[in-house]
Amino acid sequence: MNRQVLDELKRQIPLLDYLQAHDWRSARPLSRDRWLGLCPLHQDHKPSFLVDANKGLFYCYGCGRGGDVIRFAELYHQVRFPQALALLRRWRGLGALLCDAASFYHLQLHRHGEAVAYLHQRGVQSAELVEHMRIGYAPGGCLRGWLTDLSYAPAALHQAGLVTRAGYDTYIRRIVFPLEGNLYGRSISDTAPPHRFLPTGKGGLYYWEQVRRCPEIILVEGLFDYAVLWQAGFRNVTCSLGSHLNALQFRQLCDHRRTVYIAFDADPNNGGQRAAQILAQRLGAHGSKPVTVSLPVGHDPNSFFVQGGDARQFQALLEAALP
Ligand SMILES: [Zn+2]
Repeated sequence: MNRQVLDELKRQIPLLDYLQAHDWRSARPLSRDRWLGLCPLHQDHKPSFLVDANKGLFYCYGCGRGGDVIRFAELYHQVRFPQALALLRRWRGLGALLCDAASFYHLQLHRHGEAVAYLHQRGVQSAELVEHMRIGYAPGGCLRGWLTDLSYAPAALHQAGLVTRAGYDTYIRRIVFPLEGNLYGRSISDTAPPHRFLPTGKGGLYYWEQVRRCPEIILVEGLFDYAVLWQAGFRNVTCSLGSHLNALQFRQLCDHRRTVYIAFDADPNNGGQRAAQILAQRLGAHGSKPVTVSLPVGHDPNSFFVQGGDARQFQALLEAALP
């Protein structure tokens, strides 16, 4: 690997930007361009992670690890050097584009009554929640023009999966949730497939950085489950976007010992319950403490709240849950 190529990549991805995009926050500045905060690489209780934004270097006084943005990506995502480079390159290119697309969709949300009506129907009421999840709406038909005006090349839009080969918007009449490196689109129409992702993988657990230090975590299947729980005041909730966890999501859940309340859908055909049991066994074998939550049959956490359930009743389900 050519040294110049690496230096160029590091110049394009400042370490501090990358850390902040992964929810790192400095606790205090040490001097100009030098910051101290909690270490994202180990269980840190007092700030021991030093970042020199000017040099693009970090060092942790707790776990003794340090290096540049590439080294950070290796350690954080637990991948080898070439994969870390690929992740960073993809993050650089795709990140800006998806962020601009998400901003566009977010602007559209309140311009379309059908989108707001759908959110209400799914129990999403609070403006704070809409901002927290950066929920948006894809009416279809105008994203391409917006991004082209921002001087993105049509080929890049197609490559990211935002626009079809023929040049039409991929997401039409969908509620859109930004993920890390993807956008999830939920159709509001009964005739289209309900769930869609862009071709990049679904990534890690939803808002993992905000919950990873909780000793107890609630894991749900869907973003609308996440939404109603967050709105009801449960802030230790995360979402696997389906009942099957990918390798990264599983690794995240096992990164240290914690209680995981698995609140998957109570499907009439037992699909969600079976997935929850299999996951519980795997988590138990890796040293976590899994607990499966039983919802009334036919319900997921979203419908539980939409049909009148409240935080106190859901808390009772958590307390009644079985290891
Ligand atoms: Zn550390």
